[in-house]
Amino acid sequence: MAGIKLDTLTKSYGDTQVLHHIDAEIEDGEFVVIVGPSGCGKSTLLRMVAGLESVTSGNVHIGDKRVNDLEPADRDIAMVFQNYALYPHMSVRDNMAYGLKIRKLSKAEIDRRVNEAAEILEIGQYLDRKPRQLSGGQRQRVAMGRAIVRDPQVFLFDEPLSNLDAKLRVQMRLEIRKLQKRLGVTSIFVTHDQVEAMTLGDRLMVLNGGYVEQFGTPIELYERP
Ligand code: ADP
Ligand code: ADP
Repeated sequence: MAGIKLDTLTKSYGDTQVLHHIDAEIEDGEFVVIVGPSGCGKSTLLRMVAGLESVTSGNVHIGDKRVNDLEPADRDIAMVFQNYALYPHMSVRDNMAYGLKIRKLSKAEIDRRVNEAAEILEIGQYLDRKPRQLSGGQRQRVAMGRAIVRDPQVFLFDEPLSNLDAKLRVQMRLEIRKLQKRLGVTSIFVTHDQVEAMTLGDRLMVLNGGYVEQFGTPIELYERP
């Protein structure tokens, strides 16, 4: 596992600067939520941490490595997206196993990891189904299962609950929090929902117009709004 360091990070698209000098240290095992209105730069920041978006200036470190120095396959990161991003023609088991097959893990090790993740997420009975045969909540569990089996240093969540109905969203929120604490994987979770942010985060980074307005625990932010 590893902490994450954002060091005077900026991002511009052409002449438009969308992120301004972001500095933050996220500790090993910490759960940080980035919260702010639509367009404030949350996804861009997350994608820069993932190495999916170039950095205009500054650095992202995961542990002692600079993300941009690493080949994509060497980035030890798993991401969970709003739209689940599952392969529709593959079974749940194959969706979860896919990244591990490419990494050439043994079949026994792949089965072990998939079965363990399925048990944690309570999707063992759906392993032979296709994604379209699952509900939204079940699909999101599969997407999380695919992230867990990678055994990554870092989880990145990009509004993963936005497509779920209100009741399921609250339930999954609690489950994600429990899972993150159980696995102890350093995590960043992006949302525009303040309640979700308060419920989930060890600390919250409040972004507005590309600036960090506040960075602290829910209690710190609540007491000094
Ligand atoms: P959020 O995730 O908070 O909604 P984004 O990170 O998606 O915000 O976007 C931040 C800003 O950057 C927005 O003004 C958006 O229009 C702009 N932006 C995002 N991606 C691009 C791009 N590929 N080209 C130009 N502008 C972009
Ligand atoms: P590998 O693990 O060998 O990179 P994958 O097919 O799993 O093979 O991944 C291909 C690329 O997509 C890699 O850059 C990997 O980091 C990225 N990738 C795959 N699955 C995920 C995921 N759930 N979250 C983040 N990145 C992923």
